[in-house]
Amino acid sequence: MKIAFFSTKTYDRTYFDQLIEQTSHTITYFEDLLTEKTATLVKGYDAVCVFVNNPVDRPLLEKISELGIEVVALRSAGFNHVDLEAAQDLGVKIFRVPAYSPEAVAEHTAALILTLNRKTHKAYNRVRENNFSLDGLAGFNLHQKTVGVIGTGTIGTAFCKIMTGFGCDVLAFDPNVNEEAEQIGVSYVDLDELFKKSDIVSLHCPLIPQTRHMINESSISKMKTGVMIINTSRGALIDTAAVINALKQKKIGFLGIDVYEQEENLFFEDLSEEVIQDDEITRLMAFPNALITGHQAFLTAEALREITKITLQNLTDYEEGKPVENEIKAG
Ligand code: NAD
Repeated sequence: MKIAFFSTKTYDRTYFDQLIEQTSHTITYFEDLLTEKTATLVKGYDAVCVFVNNPVDRPLLEKISELGIEVVALRSAGFNHVDLEAAQDLGVKIFRVPAYSPEAVAEHTAALILTLNRKTHKAYNRVRENNFSLDGLAGFNLHQKTVGVIGTGTIGTAFCKIMTGFGCDVLAFDPNVNEEAEQIGVSYVDLDELFKKSDIVSLHCPLIPQTRHMINESSISKMKTGVMIINTSRGALIDTAAVINALKQKKIGFLGIDVYEQEENLFFEDLSEEVIQDDEITRLMAFPNALITGHQAFLTAEALREITKITLQNLTDYEEGKPVENEIKAG
């Protein structure tokens, strides 16, 4: 198939160039997002390949469908940025990469916790300036702390394994109990109990209407004072204004986020010469106990290799008329 590849970064090219030769497909890389404006570029192609930062709404789908696109291949697991009903109405297929490396995201989650707790980011900067003072660098042992995990799918379960390795008591909430998690000693509780007992709350569920802003003024009020909240899932699971307020009141002791509600206007681009117009993220960045990474939890060599392999396999299966197990449909 002829693939038009959007929002290309150097690391995408590295991995796709390695595998494309072994397929019947050809790729043209574009740095732009796929939008109604750039959609004219897709004329003559069969498929478009987009990342998680690329909204795919009805008007865009109508436009690319008119131009002959049969498939939108997402090189991401999440698909809340795609209008699946519109795609179905127009007969455009949507493929995704459901699980490429849960450990990549789970390990980044652990990295956020350890950095916030042991302040390695601050220590690194101090030592570079010959400041070997330890004042203000005290952390706490993870051993025997209670970690509340919301969502025990592939990433949540990989994260539970890491935290049980640290000797933490792991509580979980998920409408679907995962036996693998139970077998490693995870206890399922209701959300209120999880909020009440956890020293660290980590989010690993999808963004759906029921989970939108699940971390809000009311849920925060049920948590321990000084709680650490970690979000490597989707930005809108957190009501940012409520979290800023709770950080100011010292109810939340630490915040680690790899995703942000308004991230599509910020993340994945070098904005170092720009004036950031988003006041909420600049407020978050000003807290000494908040740590933000720009949606990089997935970014390991193993994950990129797997994303490439599965994205191309989805297109090969489609081209060969085989059922595409990673096709997503509305409803
Ligand atoms: P998954 O589908 O394997 O697991 C999601 C789990 O959430 C399931 O067990 C499901 O039962 C549970 N769930 C559904 N509704 C829930 C609710 N109301 N409350 C609690 N749990 C609920 O998904 P996954 O692959 O483990 O991904 C988890 C999240 O991580 C997704 O939001 C995904 O978009 C995000 N993610 C982030 C990155 C990153 O780079 N930061 C990369 C990949 C995935």
